[in-house]
Amino acid sequence: MFNFEPSKMNLMSYRSHHCGELRISDVGQKVVLSGWVQKGRDLGGMTFIDLRDRYGITQLVFNMDTDESLCKIARSLGREFVITASGEVTERSNKNPDRPTGEIEINVEDLTVVNPSKTPPFTIEEETDGGEELRMKYRYLDIRRDTIQKKLIFRSKLALETRKYLDSKNFIEVETPFLIKSTPEGARDFVVPSRMNKGEFYALPQSPQTFKQLLMVSGMERYFQIVKCFRDEDLRADRQPEFTQIDCEMAFVDREEVLDTFESLTKHLFRSTLNIELGDFPRLDYNQAIEKYGSDKPDLRFDMPIHNLNQTVKDSGFVVFDSAEYVGGICVPGVADEYSNKDLKKLTEWVQRPQIGAKGLVYAKFQTDGSIKSSVGKFFNDDQLLEWLDRAEGSKGDLLLILAGDKDNSLKQLGALRLEMGKRLGYLDSTEFKPLWVLDFPLLEWDEDTQRFYAMHHPFTAPAAEDIYKMDSPDREVLKNLKANAYDLVINGAEIGGGSIRIHDRKLQARNFKLLGFTAEEAEEQFGFLMGAFEYGAPPHGGIAFGFDRLCAVMNHQNSIRDFIAFPKNNMGRDLMINAPAPIDKEQLKDLGLDLKD
Ligand code: ASP
Repeated sequence: MFNFEPSKMNLMSYRSHHCGELRISDVGQKVVLSGWVQKGRDLGGMTFIDLRDRYGITQLVFNMDTDESLCKIARSLGREFVITASGEVTERSNKNPDRPTGEIEINVEDLTVVNPSKTPPFTIEEETDGGEELRMKYRYLDIRRDTIQKKLIFRSKLALETRKYLDSKNFIEVETPFLIKSTPEGARDFVVPSRMNKGEFYALPQSPQTFKQLLMVSGMERYFQIVKCFRDEDLRADRQPEFTQIDCEMAFVDREEVLDTFESLTKHLFRSTLNIELGDFPRLDYNQAIEKYGSDKPDLRFDMPIHNLNQTVKDSGFVVFDSAEYVGGICVPGVADEYSNKDLKKLTEWVQRPQIGAKGLVYAKFQTDGSIKSSVGKFFNDDQLLEWLDRAEGSKGDLLLILAGDKDNSLKQLGALRLEMGKRLGYLDSTEFKPLWVLDFPLLEWDEDTQRFYAMHHPFTAPAAEDIYKMDSPDREVLKNLKANAYDLVINGAEIGGGSIRIHDRKLQARNFKLLGFTAEEAEEQFGFLMGAFEYGAPPHGGIAFGFDRLCAVMNHQNSIRDFIAFPKNNMGRDLMINAPAPIDKEQLKDLGLDLKD
């Protein structure tokens, strides 16, 4: 074990420079560096150590001939030891062009072992040998890796630029409480038992929605908050039970002003952190997005739109098409020759997987030699197939893929197929950014299981002005088609932000609650505070929230948000490092009035 030498440390400060900053112009300077031992190499009479801190790596060199005892200490250092070294900056004979400090090294004259380290459970390098679980258990070591540090530094910068921009536009950052009452926003609440009010519970906010609206009633005019939100959902895909939003609200605005403000914020963030100029964001309305891309968050890095083939393929005696509500297809450019029967069989199995759920796949290959091969060649002649190709705006060499069934599901399946083909063709590797606004979402979503409507966005979203009179219709189909004054920001197929113009009138809010199946008493019980506030001069208002973790990931072309969160949870909602959640002891349970059994 190493002896600590506190007296020596007093004489030597930890650093004059950090490990990323010395250059050839510093040769001759006496410097002090501190950091972690990345790795060591012994070459004959020389020992080299890569010393790492947050800023970079600098090579230290020890010479057996000049100082044998120092060199011996250097040789005994293990990975991740914390050391302080002082010496002279010298020019390297063997330069490393891949490293900013690669032209110099430090000829070490003095060395202190500040703190030794056990051998880390995985290598602290860009490409680590540590699996996900191990990395999460020792997340403090994982964060030492440059790649994770860079992501957290990016996140910090993005938050700072968000604050700068919103401050410049007169937004005020206001903190709203974490211990609140449940608000229905589609997900389950995390609840916190109250000790002082036994049998009662707080809920952790799924978002500060009602508070930010109340701040508009309060006359704050422009609010924002970079805020934690909590949703107790099954953690499929890339979700975290606690995540961060850039949450915003504005008074006296219409939709255009909100879109304009947050399009500008997005452009500012790309410019200031990535040096990328985004052009103006295209807009699609919800129905267009679904009809054309089978998704309300289309990835526009490539086109390959869905074509409705109903008019073209029906009434030819092919029962699969004739009996379907909808037949649609996508034209995959240039792959007709290369897709073998075996590939197409595999693709058919792919669309039939339960996650996609299509019954089958019809294809037509328009080969470059002019021949056409189709899975329904028995039912349709070449002229008919060419008509489909024409309808799908394809050309020779293309592969036409067709699904049939009920409209909603077929479009979803075609959307998934489109993305899969885009991925296979390498279109998703593109480093481009394709933002867009999706507008005019439906106000309500019908749920077959519970036989009731849910708010597509949330219950405070205003209906489109021209649809308000339809809200009292007894016809479910009319209600399904009510439009909301709601919008989403989508970038590269990821939903980055969502918001709406809100209801600010008590009576309209009450009508909306009624549509959502609330009795007047239930609405009053749960949201009396908000509806009451609307009676004291509530200004028109609207806002948006950006998913901050996802924005970080998308801006860095990463699929996972986890590495942009310092201490994330796994798919079971566990923090493997602190081992949470965990049972609490009997006394605590008793205190909380939760010792129910016995
Ligand atoms: N509170 C909403 C959400 O979390 C965003 C908004 O409407 O501003 O999705």
